[in-house]
Amino acid sequence: MFAQVIVDIAHSQVDKVFEYSCPDDIQVGSRVKVPFGARNIDGFVIGVSRTSSYPADKVKPIAEIFDELPALVPECFTIMEQIAQRYRVPKAVALRLFLPSEMRLGKVHVSVRRFAKFVKEIPLSASAKKQAQALEYIKSEGEADYARFAEKFGRGAVDALSDKGAIEVEERKINRSPTASLTQTYEKKILTPAQQSAIDDIESNGKHIHLIHGVTGSGKTEIYLNVIAREIEKGKSAIFLVPEISLTPQMLSQLRARFGGNAAILHSGLSAGEKFDEWWRLRTGEAKIAIGARSAIFAPLENIGAIIIDEEHDTSYSSESAPRYSTVDIARLRANFNGAKLILGSATPSVESYIKAKNGEYNLITLKDRINGKPLPEIIIADMTREVKRGNNTAFSSALREELDKSLKSGKQAIIFLNRRGYSRTVMCRDCGYTAKCENCDVTLTYHSEENCLKCHYCGAKYRMLTSCPECGGVHVLYNGIGTQRVVSDLNKLFPDARILRMDNDTVSGKDGQYKILKQFSEREADILVGTQMIAKGHDFPDVTLVGILDADMSLHFSDYRSGERTFQLITQVSGRSGRAGEAGKVVLQTCSPDNYILRYAVNYDYNGFFENEVAVRQATFFPPYSLICRVMVTAESNDKALQTLKEVYFAIEKLRETNPQEFIFLNKMHSPVKRIQGKHRYQVLMRLNSGALVEKIYDIAVKNSTADCLVYVEENPANLS
Ligand code: ADP
Ligand code: ZN
Repeated sequence: MFAQVIVDIAHSQVDKVFEYSCPDDIQVGSRVKVPFGARNIDGFVIGVSRTSSYPADKVKPIAEIFDELPALVPECFTIMEQIAQRYRVPKAVALRLFLPSEMRLGKVHVSVRRFAKFVKEIPLSASAKKQAQALEYIKSEGEADYARFAEKFGRGAVDALSDKGAIEVEERKINRSPTASLTQTYEKKILTPAQQSAIDDIESNGKHIHLIHGVTGSGKTEIYLNVIAREIEKGKSAIFLVPEISLTPQMLSQLRARFGGNAAILHSGLSAGEKFDEWWRLRTGEAKIAIGARSAIFAPLENIGAIIIDEEHDTSYSSESAPRYSTVDIARLRANFNGAKLILGSATPSVESYIKAKNGEYNLITLKDRINGKPLPEIIIADMTREVKRGNNTAFSSALREELDKSLKSGKQAIIFLNRRGYSRTVMCRDCGYTAKCENCDVTLTYHSEENCLKCHYCGAKYRMLTSCPECGGVHVLYNGIGTQRVVSDLNKLFPDARILRMDNDTVSGKDGQYKILKQFSEREADILVGTQMIAKGHDFPDVTLVGILDADMSLHFSDYRSGERTFQLITQVSGRSGRAGEAGKVVLQTCSPDNYILRYAVNYDYNGFFENEVAVRQATFFPPYSLICRVMVTAESNDKALQTLKEVYFAIEKLRETNPQEFIFLNKMHSPVKRIQGKHRYQVLMRLNSGALVEKIYDIAVKNSTADCLVYVEENPANLS
């Protein structure tokens, strides 16, 4: 037999299928080691055949076959081809997505324990006392852990018994379970009519992709779980993606309680061994439900009935390393392959998805009410420019102070949310709310301290730094946002008796630390939780009735054409943490731009108003989805090499423009906003295109110019233009 093998090297020059001879019982999908040049390297069997296209003496044999059960499920090969083609990566790179890194390169192995089992009585010489004792013991016990057994009676005696056939030693696989400690019993909920009709609609609708637009607390999770349960009953499997699974213990325990061992959880908080075992449980079919963040879309499942992407608007669903895929795209490929349902859910769908739902490409399901029957929390806007004028220089408006006071007195909990987006700084006047924008692009400019200038990340235009506000003459124009530390110290002064927890990237290291803080808060060990983006999502704290959003401006004036969309999403999500159980909640939203239309829509929970407006703006200013922002990155350790390559890439793209002028709205080459990362110089060709028509050709150019010492890659609508 001959095996077609892809070698695990991420290089376009070896991006082809190699042939090796192999045993007859080899299975497609197996991980193997094959001779390659002077050494043996890892590879994947993607096909087998009786005959070879090469002369027999030219074909070398496979050196080693790893798993009894092939690691890769058959559909991998189809999807791998599609990914390799779509994102122009070597097949090996596309295949790697389907194997957790722990599995590749043999870093982690199945955890096995050896057991000794009694087989039969045998005659022993009188001098073999240890053997006799050991035999007596194992006969009465039936079996024993090999290591302990050997320790007790001596390895020599035990091995002798094994050689003589009195006992048998066998290896058994042990599962390292990540959530064994989570115990909660499953309480069947009576579905609300809205939930029931959503579930029925998903089952019977002719469309395969569904978008659930349901307000926060409308019970979307229960819908997902019911859809999954039904697919499992049909003998199918399911994938359930959640942005921050490791931070939402409620979600984990709910899943465990409902599905027990049938659910396997894949997330970054797991140890390598745990991940390995959970992954194999899916591969062997012992578990049929894969739950996890973005990468769980590659779970080794067959016969998938449903793929669910919760909080579909979340930016964590787009990959920032090669291949730069969008999770929804991969989900569509897998859903197509399996004839599965794809369900996207959010309280604030991305503009892109909602357009598709409106166009009829997706089936739109709308849930307008919260499960608890209460209205969505009231959002009060606090105008911070007025507070400053009144001499209030704390991080807290009088409205928020009052509400905090009430909340503490009534024994409820509060969340204070600080809006932080990276370390980028913008020009915003604290006296009147003016912000500096690009004349060409209508996006906020970013301050670059090393050149003391303002830059547009969408066209590279540079502007002189302002010393005072052109609108009101005020001089507090450079805006950094407020730090968590400052917030906590202000809070301590205002409410000396309040118990405060703080959670941000600076103070909390790792998922464990974050998890601990969230647990403390949910167990009511604190009255106020202060945190950044990481506390915005998915949490269900029943006693929280007040949310304070300190710095709505930070995301509103972020230099991104989606800053309006992100702000609307953020405010809705954060507000959604308030008043989830018995009592109605409240939200205080602090801003220097109280009249901003995005904030107005957010305050009224007017998603449709926001959407119509946003679509009109995008259309008028030619931003996605009415255009495609495409960036070709050129990075190299040598500045000269990077510049040289940049020139060549740009030249090739300019030629493309000559023949397709109508496709280009904008094209230029420039330094990337962040000029060096990890010693590598960064340059870019930035373009805005009318459609995706030329994307393949641009990928071609990138692939052609990319070398080992100068990386060239394409980003489509990147979430981050730094
Ligand atoms: P969403 O994901 O839409 O924000 P959740 O799924 O978290 O909302 O549901 C909000 C709350 O309502 C949760 O505490 C959940 O346990 C509860 N819930 C959901 N469905 C029901 C139901 N049918 N009956 C009772 N409680 C429910
Ligand atoms: Zn610009």
